[in-house]
Amino acid sequence: METIGVLSLQGSFAEHLQALKKIKNIKSMPVKTVAELDAVDRLILPGGESTTMSKILNITGLAAEIRRRILAGMPVWGTCAGLILLAKELDVGLPHLAVMDMQVRRNAYGSQLDSFTVQKLIPKISSSPLNMVFIRAPQIVSINGTTEVLAEYDGKIVAAQQNRMLATTFHPELTDDLDVYNYFLKL
Ligand code: GLN
Repeated sequence: METIGVLSLQGSFAEHLQALKKIKNIKSMPVKTVAELDAVDRLILPGGESTTMSKILNITGLAAEIRRRILAGMPVWGTCAGLILLAKELDVGLPHLAVMDMQVRRNAYGSQLDSFTVQKLIPKISSSPLNMVFIRAPQIVSINGTTEVLAEYDGKIVAAQQNRMLATTFHPELTDDLDVYNYFLKL
């Protein structure tokens, strides 16, 4: 049985762990240390504040170890701030994981629209529309290398994948939809 880790330094990790409890035939656990990281087969990087997460990741030595595991093939899924940590190119200087071929802009939606929910079908992920919750969301400005677009909303890329790396600018952990989890678990 696979163990799914959720990086639990800051942000919406409790919501991800709660959602994972609803899925059968997997185990899940919070990851705060390198020893805990060693015990997981897949990792979710939650939403929250990427600057804060980046600081703690680097202080604890987790950044280098997570990066090493991802490059060795561990499936990883970044939601919102977690996606920012994965991007190779950022509009701001932030010591981050820089593993996925995409260019990301933080806080890309204007202040009036900084939090909103939409329903949209992502045929590659589910057969019915997903609730997408955006909270001070970043934007995937462009992709390169072998990164593929999974979904767009309003002309902007909101979900992308490169091999076993998955990135969503929205927050499935704040909805009842488990489709993105089930998609991630198949990577
Ligand atoms: N704006 C946050 C950041 O830059 C991300 C917001 C989120 O994860 N909901 O890290």
